[in-house]
This record gives sequence, structure tokens and C-alpha cells, in this order.
Amino acid sequence: MAKPRIELCSYKDCVEAATYILELDGRRYALCRSHYRELLRRLEEKAAEYGKANLLDLDPKEVEGVVRSIRINRDSSSGRENAST
Ligand SMILES: [Zn+2]
Repeated sequence: MAKPRIELCSYKDCVEAATYILELDGRRYALCRSHYRELLRRLEEKAAEYGKANLLDLDPKEVEGVVRSIRINRDSSSGRENAST
């Protein structure tokens, strides 16, 4: 059995363990609780224009626009301190 891998939040400069994994349009966004809530708030602000505030109702492109500040870690298993790239 594979051991569940702990992912860190994909948000830039965030070191919290990811609580939520969003899979949108083939991309994965790992988010800690606080950043997930922040994302939802920002989505709701955008969604207010369309009269809906459900993440699942939103177009992935809308989410892309909101999470553009997220830095995706393709492999976070080695930790953020490993900056040898
Ligand atoms: Zn975070």
C-alpha cells in the first residue's frame, strides 16, 4: 500500500500542509485550510457577478485566474528547503 504523501500548500511562500487538493482542468492545486478559504472568498467575489458562489459551478478558467499567484510544486516530497534545481 502506498503511503499517503503529505503535500504542502501550493500557495507562494506558504509552508502549511495542504488540507485540500483541487483538481481543475488537469492541474492539481494543494491548498492549506486558510488559503482554501481565501480562494473560496475570492471565487465568491467573482461568482457574485454571475449569481453563484459554488466552486464546482465555476469554470476552471475562472479558477485559473484566481489562483494565478499559486506556485505549483510538481514534487514537494523532498521539502521546500531543497532548492537544488
Ligand atoms: Zn497555504
